[in-house]
Amino acid sequence: MFNKYLMHISIILILIFMVCEISTYSYSSQDPVFKLVIHGGAGVILRENLTAEQEQAYRDKLKEALVAGHEILKDGGKSLDAVEAVIKILEDSPLFNAGKGAVFTSSGIVELDASVMDGATLKAGSVAGLKHIKNPISLARLVMEKSPHVMMVGVGAEKFAQEQGMGFVEQKYFFTERRWKQLQEEKAKERKSQLNKKKTVFNFSTSQQEAQKFGTVGAVALDKAGNLAAGTSTGGTTNKKFGRVGDSPIIGAGTYANNQTCGVSATGHGEYFIRSVVAYDISALMEYKGLSLKEAADKVVMDKLVKLGGSGGVIAMDKQGNIATPFNSPGMYRGSIDEKGKITIGIFKDE
Ligand code: ASP
Repeated sequence: MFNKYLMHISIILILIFMVCEISTYSYSSQDPVFKLVIHGGAGVILRENLTAEQEQAYRDKLKEALVAGHEILKDGGKSLDAVEAVIKILEDSPLFNAGKGAVFTSSGIVELDASVMDGATLKAGSVAGLKHIKNPISLARLVMEKSPHVMMVGVGAEKFAQEQGMGFVEQKYFFTERRWKQLQEEKAKERKSQLNKKKTVFNFSTSQQEAQKFGTVGAVALDKAGNLAAGTSTGGTTNKKFGRVGDSPIIGAGTYANNQTCGVSATGHGEYFIRSVVAYDISALMEYKGLSLKEAADKVVMDKLVKLGGSGGVIAMDKQGNIATPFNSPGMYRGSIDEKGKITIGIFKDE
């Protein structure tokens, strides 16, 4: 009888021990780190320019994307899969300047650019000047995985998409009233400055900023296997001229990932980001000078880029899961989620 009693007690103690083990499991410091950081564009984003509803809509969409990416990473999915899934959500939202809701070129059409990079292999894929692809990030990934090339543009890129069985959408799919109005405003400004006999051509540092033309989207993920991936997708800049391509599809400027250093996705004045080779420069400062992620990202965004006159920011993550999101513009839509599911979202400078 006493033995039976002892046996029961032992079984109960074992069960209690097991439950404790399971409940502490999800918080163990031994577990692999996996994280995700995203952006929805940088620019003149000020509280006074956003209604409470608009602000909430941005926060909700960023949260939705973060949660979707987290689910993939939590289940042991690849960082590349998380980056693609997250960017697709943002491309499908009319809130951001990528996919649906992208800005218009000077000829009143939408031309989309995107790129993706795998930090484990240093493979990359990029597309530019797309007119009929709903999710440019997925085509960038196909270029990386199913072609011998890194970058494909325009008609050729769309022919490749067709070969890969990707569906096409009409230009009207991308249309939003807000972006159309922005284009008209920009054209009116252009006409006015022409009348005033001022130099008109593409005064990026003033009018582009004021019009809040940015809204590019990007993501950097670190998966349980320790692999980093980064991706960026954009409509470019409002009223951009024929054939203009910004930094977003340029590997090393708008996007970069290397497991040995970091993953980076940029947003801002593409021309300056190309000239500063922003994303690769952050990685190189870490690789060759031993700078920390924060030091490297701050150096490039808050110092080098500012001196050149470029405005915008980056999201960046290193192989330990440290995150840096410096920006020198008034605001940047951004967010991150860690392995415990803790979400951080910011829009304005003071957050
Ligand atoms: N960097 C993008 C470009 O210049 C624009 C942006 O980030 O909003 O095309």
